Amino acid sequence: MNCTLCGDRAVILIREEQLSLCKQHLIQRILDYSRTVLEMIKPGGTSIRIAVATSGGKDSTVCLHILHSLLEEYTLDIIAIAVDEGIEGFRNIKLHRLKKFAQNLGVDLNVVSFKEFFGASLDEMVKLSLGKGFMYKPCTICGVLRRYLLNKTARELGVEYLATGHNMDDEAQSILMNILKNNIDKIARSAPITAIKHKKFIPRLKPLYYCTEKEVMTYALIQHFEIPVVDCPYLFFNERRILRRWLNKVEYLRPGTKKRLISLKNRISLNSQREPTKRVKLCTKCGEPSSEDICKTCQILEYLEINMDGG
Ligand code: SF4
Ligand code: ZN
Repeated sequence: MNCTLCGDRAVILIREEQLSLCKQHLIQRILDYSRTVLEMIKPGGTSIRIAVATSGGKDSTVCLHILHSLLEEYTLDIIAIAVDEGIEGFRNIKLHRLKKFAQNLGVDLNVVSFKEFFGASLDEMVKLSLGKGFMYKPCTICGVLRRYLLNKTARELGVEYLATGHNMDDEAQSILMNILKNNIDKIARSAPITAIKHKKFIPRLKPLYYCTEKEVMTYALIQHFEIPVVDCPYLFFNERRILRRWLNKVEYLRPGTKKRLISLKNRISLNSQREPTKRVKLCTKCGEPSSEDICKTCQILEYLEINMDGG
């Protein structure tokens, strides 16, 4: 299989476009997609400080690498933040590699942990939740508390944007999940840059928004990134995993399904009569941004009877 554009050996076939790309043209394509997103924040000569939310997985590693490649072109000031949730046999392995990766790039990596900040690791929280009827599943606790800590840390580090490794597959899965939850507002708000505006909320930037997971994975392979192949022990509870598998099967049968879901989202956003931005309050317990009077993090900690002592 040869590259459609130059005839060199191809590393990827993009079925929905009948396009084969060599290493250089795939890199070019991903850089161009990321440029499209960076253009939206319109860096105008002055340096833009961005924190990349890194987990040691392929998506966030590629995101960090891509932004680092565009550092001079867009006058970016890049740092990385990693949250150590405290998942034994998983996150510690991922973070070990991530530290070396960031060090080789020369990017400052800030690691914050559930144990230090909230007073308990995710493993400990899952046990507490199990003992109380398991109202909060591991991925809910993990996701809510991780986003909370990322936002707080990014704000304290004085960044303007928090970049995440979300790709088109993640977006397509989110659209499906929100259709199933009848959450039209969330579908309409999904975008490469979040529209939530509040001085305590750091806007999210998704440089890989237009790249498929296959493109991101191939990029990680051709760049020889050493990403530990280890699954989270709580993956079984992850709803998204089920949708991901299903969507991949449908994509195989009908190439372009994921892109069509993104187009559907764009049409929903255009036709939406609702406010494009979400109203943000401040949690009455911890003072962090929240859509409810008491934020989800405080609700979870209260349920688990954990007193947040790190903040
Ligand atoms: Fe967290 Fe669930 Fe992902 Fe594990 S699978 S890292 S618990 S969100
Ligand atoms: Zn709170």
